[in-house]
Amino acid sequence: MTQTDVSTPWLTPIFDKHVQSYQNSRFAHGLLFTGSAGLGKFKLASRLAKYLLCTAKLSNDACGKCHSCNLFDANNHLDFHLLQSEANKAIGIDQVRSLIDVLNERPHLGDNKVVVIKDAQLLSTAAANALLKTLEEPQGNSYLILLARTHHQLMPTLFSRVQHSHVHSPSDEALVEWLSLQGTSVSDKGVLRQFQNCPLALLNYLNALKAGEATDERRHCVEGLFALLNRPESLFDFSQFLAKDVESRLMLLFFMLHELHKIKLTGLVCNNQVLNNQVLNNQALNSQVLNDDAVYAFALPQLQIWSEQITLKALRIVNDELLQTRASLMEHSGLKKELLISALLIKIKNRFKETTPC
Ligand SMILES: [Zn+2]
Repeated sequence: MTQTDVSTPWLTPIFDKHVQSYQNSRFAHGLLFTGSAGLGKFKLASRLAKYLLCTAKLSNDACGKCHSCNLFDANNHLDFHLLQSEANKAIGIDQVRSLIDVLNERPHLGDNKVVVIKDAQLLSTAAANALLKTLEEPQGNSYLILLARTHHQLMPTLFSRVQHSHVHSPSDEALVEWLSLQGTSVSDKGVLRQFQNCPLALLNYLNALKAGEATDERRHCVEGLFALLNRPESLFDFSQFLAKDVESRLMLLFFMLHELHKIKLTGLVCNNQVLNNQVLNNQALNSQVLNDDAVYAFALPQLQIWSEQITLKALRIVNDELLQTRASLMEHSGLKKELLISALLIKIKNRFKETTPC
């Protein structure tokens, strides 16, 4: 089953709400959908675009049969436009200007025109300013749908002119049930957290794992840190692995250090409790160390060993450094990734040498 066929029940309430608004003539000309990657924001925008363009709308969806729907399904609709960044670069003023020219023309079919802008946070200031005018005085029945991770990434003036809906990820229960409908399952809840419960991203990963096309990233992180601490020559392998997907893999390393931090804090609380009353048994202690939905709950014994080898203060320092490295690598694509990540890993490794208890 391809991803275009999968059902996306968590998107339905937002879709229905907008269809309702359209039918009540309260549909905004500028919309913004925010949410993490892998939630299906583009799917939602496409489904809504198809509805707006459909010339025989049903009460709750596009008809799926008219000429417009057929053209849309064939990716061949002249009144649908997709604006996106090329190679993660800014979306420039020229791209927006030519889009505005198109919007000033009459629709080829039906009454409406729709533009979807992916990664709207990448609009340059000039490009965003040019869009503002279009949003203030929409040409005919043209609709703009902006997509971004969070609304904080957009210029406030642009944000103030769109109707915002945040796409929430489904609950653990709903997600596990949905995965089983797609013919797959997860080994533990930690993998749900790894993908912040984003169904499409998770399904992609699980399918790639099953097909042997992806590596188990959490396990790779545990093994990477283990090798780093015991065999310094493995540094480059681990930094290469992390550099392949800076955004998500450095986050995965962050989760590990964060959970080590949690283990240490819980350890302090438990030790105090043991001192105060001797009734806590080992099992009770263990269950308090990490929740079963922690990303690295599966590697708890190893994490407990490491938690003895680093101080709370050192963990806070390396975590800050990790987030800074990740942010600069995400912001400036020209940086030498492996080099910066290797420098970070050496700092982490050196902090682990400090075995003085906190
Ligand atoms: Zn139709």
